[in-house]
Amino acid sequence: MHELSLVASAFEVLEEKAREHGARRVTRVVLSVGVMSGVVPDLLVSAFDSYKKGTIAEEARLEIAAVPVKVRCPDCGGGAVREEADFSCAACGSRRVEIVAGRELVIEKIDLEA
Ligand SMILES: [Zn+2]
Repeated sequence: MHELSLVASAFEVLEEKAREHGARRVTRVVLSVGVMSGVVPDLLVSAFDSYKKGTIAEEARLEIAAVPVKVRCPDCGGGAVREEADFSCAACGSRRVEIVAGRELVIEKIDLEA
């Protein structure tokens, strides 16, 4: 499962951050997930909840912030936010747009308890 391997690598970061700050517990994690990342938020949450048992983040809550698709148009220099997969320029209709956001999966915030 895709989500489980993502959670596993997120936990490597969590544990490293907690060590760095001498924290005893992770209480909250906020992840930015692009709507085009192919990640299903519900699956990510359940993967997180099963993975966290027995770790430093055992009682942590996972919050997911959805990142919309953002495109940039090389033809007219315009940019737009797209709620869904419509990859054309809102200004000039060009279909050569470049996707600048919406594919990412980033740890946005980690709350630690010392
Ligand atoms: Zn354009």
